[in-house]
Amino acid sequence: MEVPIFTPVRQYMNLKEEIDLAIQKILSKGNFILGDEVREFEESVAQYLGVKHAIGVASGTDALQIALMAIGLKPGDEVITTPFTFVATAEAIVLLGGKPVYVDIDERTYNLNPDLIEEKITEKTKAIIPVHLYGQPAEMDKILDIARKYNLYVIEDSAQAFGSEYKGRKVCTFGDIACISFFPTKNLGAFGDAGMITTNNDELAEKIKMIRVHGSKIKYNHEIIGFNSRLDTIQAGILLVKLKYLDIWNERRIEIAKRYNGAFKDVGDIVIPYSEPYNKHIYHQYTIRTKHRDELAQFLKEKGIQTAVHYPIPLHLQRAFSNLGYKQGDFPISERCSKEVLSLPMFPELKDEEIDYVIESIREFFKIKG
Ligand SMILES: *Cc1c(COP(=O)(O)O)cnc(C)c1O
Repeated sequence: MEVPIFTPVRQYMNLKEEIDLAIQKILSKGNFILGDEVREFEESVAQYLGVKHAIGVASGTDALQIALMAIGLKPGDEVITTPFTFVATAEAIVLLGGKPVYVDIDERTYNLNPDLIEEKITEKTKAIIPVHLYGQPAEMDKILDIARKYNLYVIEDSAQAFGSEYKGRKVCTFGDIACISFFPTKNLGAFGDAGMITTNNDELAEKIKMIRVHGSKIKYNHEIIGFNSRLDTIQAGILLVKLKYLDIWNERRIEIAKRYNGAFKDVGDIVIPYSEPYNKHIYHQYTIRTKHRDELAQFLKEKGIQTAVHYPIPLHLQRAFSNLGYKQGDFPISERCSKEVLSLPMFPELKDEEIDYVIESIREFFKIKG
């Protein structure tokens, strides 16, 4: 049996009529740049999350960069974040001349450990970027307390956690700004690149809206330096259709995770994902840990089961950031997890027999290992 780690095709086939219609409507109207669907989708997201402003941009990466531009990040400024994340989180900081200052992660949740933040704060610290990794909210209460105490901005990297909840409230509503990605593999996925920024701050919202259209409010009147990063109208149309189903899809992810969790509890040295009892973890990724990671991945590949490693190299050890001066051993938990984590097939359209096959195959691997 072939089991993909993810495919967008099944979701499309299920919603084909509705999505095709939405695309055709836009094609015949021709309102490709910031058309009605962008505004409608922004309003729908704002309402879904319970946040004042939602501003569509071209990608999650752009969302992070625009967020940092909006808070006025300057060369030399420091931003505290996690080294155990997708590259974009730190890339945005470095692109603006800032320095990512990492703190290691909590071994159970893979999110940045808030107890390590305070010792990293200096005069140059401007912001904290917690990442809600794999779909599990970061420790927002502690992070917000520290941010208030030292007058720092908090930018949530919610690229993997659209719809996740922390203590009963949706992520994207805690920080000064939150950044969302609709990259096709994310739990709300477009048919190309797309992203969004949310905030409750009117002034920041105004600035963000200007930055995405070359720093202007009035056409050809440029007040600040911006760039071109708008949410595409066709993508917004597709996302408007999909948003209605997001809660159902997230619930299905949770159900699949429960089945996996039950099945892997006592298998080999597998560490199943830990979810804080007050978190609603939406399992953008279902990621286990084992010392036999590479061997298991190879075994599953031969069985036709796709897996992935998120992420094999923590950011402080990436060559692109070598000039920041970090070295092996600086963040030991992130380094160890990068060698042990393995993400299994996880998307709402995964069939029960596919889940069973993944479970059987993993059990078989550890039985052979003994
Ligand atoms: C996907 C992702 C991004 C970047 O989003 P894109 O839409 O691909 O640019 C940023 N941060 C994290 C944690 C992500 O997973």
